Amino acid sequence: MTERLVIVGASLAGLRAAQAARRSGFTRPVTLVGAEPYLPYDRPPLSKAYLDDEVPKKPFFRTDEQLRAELDLDLRLNTLATSLDPSRRVVALSDGDELEYSAALVATGATARTLPGAEKLVGVHTLRTLDDAVAIRAALDAGARTVVVGAGFIGSEVASGARKRGLLTTVLEALPVPLVRSVGEEMGHACAELHRAYGTDLRCGVKVTGLESAHGRVTGVTLDDGSIVPADLVVVGIGVSPSTEWLGDSGVQLHERDRGIVCDEMLSSGLPGVYAAGDVMHFPNPLFDGELMRLEHWTNAAEQGALAVKNALNPAEAKPSAVVPYFWSDWYGHRIQFVGVPKADEIRVVSAELGEDKFLALYRRGDRIIGCISIDRPAQIMKYRRLIMQSQPWADALELAGVS
Ligand code: FAD
Ligand code: NAP
Repeated sequence: MTERLVIVGASLAGLRAAQAARRSGFTRPVTLVGAEPYLPYDRPPLSKAYLDDEVPKKPFFRTDEQLRAELDLDLRLNTLATSLDPSRRVVALSDGDELEYSAALVATGATARTLPGAEKLVGVHTLRTLDDAVAIRAALDAGARTVVVGAGFIGSEVASGARKRGLLTTVLEALPVPLVRSVGEEMGHACAELHRAYGTDLRCGVKVTGLESAHGRVTGVTLDDGSIVPADLVVVGIGVSPSTEWLGDSGVQLHERDRGIVCDEMLSSGLPGVYAAGDVMHFPNPLFDGELMRLEHWTNAAEQGALAVKNALNPAEAKPSAVVPYFWSDWYGHRIQFVGVPKADEIRVVSAELGEDKFLALYRRGDRIIGCISIDRPAQIMKYRRLIMQSQPWADALELAGVS
């Protein structure tokens, strides 16, 4: 069998995997396959700095020269993996090529969900790729009345960018507050306050029923009470689906709810030599009693990319993916950060400064600290991440916060 590592998905998890393979001394061929025409790039700036009114920089991680010469990668961009055959240990590509692998990493991430009929209309976008960000930026530059569907990360960050430019901005959310699934309802209220304080028209508990248009261009969003919110730009931020269509015939286990790949705690898919990392996969997290998680956060994709490839190349010394989930999100110049998981028996605000947005709250499950949210408290939240990592008791977290 050819000794070759094939990485499918040339983004964060895929790149970190290639780097880790070389750092661990793997000298055989490494092929990195990416559907997009671009070198691997960073996504967080696409909904933040990239939408600002300053001239944006393209957020590539490395130059072509660095990837080919320093990492010695066989880089296949603008190329889709179309199938994986575990019996022949082959990944087939859209250009007709077939890559034999001794180890393979699935790092194909996720694609944005959209609303029915949205694809056909000018002015309606999702935000996942550099091309999406370029199109949204152009609409903001033109002074678009902006309507965002979904008050998750995408919706909230795009609203923040639009308001920074002084544009009329509306956020439509089906749930009672923003970011419910990520931080819980109680803390979602604190996030809602940020939208309101900066002049965004946040409407929660509303149902979008359709899009209005004239001459192929969007003109508004229809709600279930029959009202129409006028719009020149509609950004749909209603979540993502794991990119696994190409694995349909491979025999890999896909989750019944979202069709993400189900792996074990070593990030193995169960097919010989095939591992997965990042947004595309579920894994049982040993830090949270083996709870099956699919995380959609930058730090997780970076760390799992590196770990999955080390485990794939040296299964005898494989280590489990024990992750304290972490994300940040920037709204109106404020940084929201969250560590851990949001499903809690109690949430205790331990620090809030009157008249300021600074804020810190802790999440308890049983007698353990399992989560922490902060607004503009970057130094503090990492201390609680350490406590969660060490499965420390709730009392220790309260002591650290100086409350009882
Ligand atoms: P992805 O980044 O989704 O990359 C997967 C790659 O695989 C894509 O390039 C795709 O084209 C390619 N691919 C898919 N199918 C195939 C195929 N069949 N063949 C070949 N290639 C294929 N997280 C945070 O924690 N903080 C943030 O502030 C933050 N901001 C974000 C802002 C935006 C706009 C977005 C979209 C995400 C943000 N995230 C943030 C989330 C973070 O960027 C993701 O968790 C991370 O990009 C996941 O990396 P990944 O490599 O697993 O997948
Ligand atoms: P998201 O965070 O999952 O939020 C989507 C929100 O839209 C949810 O609250 C969802 O509610 C709601 N929604 C779903 N269908 C709706 C509908 N028809 N009408 C109105 N609201 C609806 O997803 P996202 O904001 O689209 O982000 C996409 C991806 O980008 C995620 O992977 C995210 O992690 C990543 N991202 C991350 C950051 C960050 O971490 N700072 C920033 C930008 C993007 P339900 O939960 O009920 O479906």
